Amino acid sequence: MKCSACGADLKEGDTFCPVCGKPVNGPATAGNVQAPVEEKTAKDKLGLAGFIVAFCSWLIDPLALASLTAIILSIVGVTGAKGKYKTFAIIGICAGALEFVLQVIRLVNLFSQM
Ligand SMILES: [Zn+2]
Repeated sequence: MKCSACGADLKEGDTFCPVCGKPVNGPATAGNVQAPVEEKTAKDKLGLAGFIVAFCSWLIDPLALASLTAIILSIVGVTGAKGKYKTFAIIGICAGALEFVLQVIRLVNLFSQM
């Protein structure tokens, strides 16, 4: 075993390096390893964006474009999103698709009356 700080040879059971005095890295420090921080990935954001756009499209969407955007964002997002963001993306797809169908029906009715 070698000292992680200076590289000096250590004897089995040494708790401090005899050369530089640094504590020997053993199992005692293994608990120091930090849990990986859960970072939002780009696809998490896309899934969330799709979810938000899908719900905005219910309010303002004269041509079903927002719902299409929501579906696309959510589908891209769902391929890479994790945990709750995957759920958001799936809801975004469903809400976007439902909104798109409703808008198409509305537009077809509109044009058939002209
Ligand atoms: Zn050392």
